[in-house]
Amino acid sequence: MILPGATVGVVGGGQLGRMFTLRARTMGYKVVVLDPDTLSPAGAVADRQIRAAYDDARALAELSATCAAVTTEFENVPATTLEILGRSAIVRPPVSAVAITQDRMAEKTFLRTHGFATAPYRGIEDKRDIAEAIRALPLPAILKTNRLGYDGKGQAVVTNEAEAVQGFERFGRVACILETRLDLQCEVSVIVARGAGGKVATFPVAENRHVSGILDTSIVPARIPDGLATRARETATKVAEALDYVGVLAVELFVVEGALVVNEMAPRPHNSGHYTIDACSVDQFEQQLRTLCGLPVVEPLLLSPVVMVNLLGDLWAAGEPRWEEALKRPGVRLHLYGKAEPRPGRKMGHMNCLAADANAALALAQEARDSMVTVSTAL
Ligand code: ADP
Ligand code: MG
Repeated sequence: MILPGATVGVVGGGQLGRMFTLRARTMGYKVVVLDPDTLSPAGAVADRQIRAAYDDARALAELSATCAAVTTEFENVPATTLEILGRSAIVRPPVSAVAITQDRMAEKTFLRTHGFATAPYRGIEDKRDIAEAIRALPLPAILKTNRLGYDGKGQAVVTNEAEAVQGFERFGRVACILETRLDLQCEVSVIVARGAGGKVATFPVAENRHVSGILDTSIVPARIPDGLATRARETATKVAEALDYVGVLAVELFVVEGALVVNEMAPRPHNSGHYTIDACSVDQFEQQLRTLCGLPVVEPLLLSPVVMVNLLGDLWAAGEPRWEEALKRPGVRLHLYGKAEPRPGRKMGHMNCLAADANAALALAQEARDSMVTVSTAL
């Protein structure tokens, strides 16, 4: 066990690293962040930031020498980075699991091989693969780049071969996956924590709404039947076990015709798990710390129904949001990531809105966010 007082490291200095750092420091750990950016959200609250590229051998040697254990806050950490760190420090999550989630084709194949339902898909390595994939799959379909996609980036909806070819060319002919676009009843996610000894704990299911491919709102508890929610948590547990995962894993699921389909995994805390900070007895960043340090992994209690709404840079379009409008409402908790430049689509912060039930929390969240801008943004 790595106990309070020890130093832990995090690769990546974004908002996920920041919230991890804040939690770890609250619990008495020292935190070192590796990020090339001089103004990183996590670096601003860490004991120390090493400013270097993620493949800088000297910086990696320094990080692993300073830290008893190292974790990551984004999935595109080069595999070699984790391998180098692993030579002299504990590294979680395991590089093998991260590698699978970095590549959509590897991810879907892994899920299928282990018996999880996914959308029908085909791999597109080369232009010549497109015609056969279009014939084989129910359409419309979504073409997604295998690597480096996030917030709906690197995706195109296609209804025929010509559009698929066009999309493939536009993405620069990189390896892609073509998958059937399913008719979604809703989207949900489960954050699961798994310790080195195999102990697993899941958070309550979040019901997620996206706007323009970016998560907008998470509603907890998800407004789905109890049986389905239980199955979602069981599915996330089984995915973590199949990956032999250690750390915090987010599993995104679709509800299609009353059944669950796994969409994708993220090998880290997740935007849809930010509600846990204010609404649970243990939050997702504490689970990350606990699994990293070998502390007990416990099942979190949901303390209140909650709705999380993201605050994107768009909210700044007409000037600084009127924070006092949100803050005067009991039940609203504001989180800002300390980013200087509010660009459209950029995640600047979020609010957790607590109320007696999910629908009341949803109404509060909508009211609180709308009240901050002169031009209203409907949920
Ligand atoms: P990202 O890595 O950008 O989050 P996702 O694969 O999760 O990529 O896709 C982003 C969003 O696009 C999903 O949350 C969902 O709303 C929609 N989407 C993705 N795949 C499908 C699909 N097969 N059928 C229907 N909608 C989809
Ligand atoms: Mg996603």
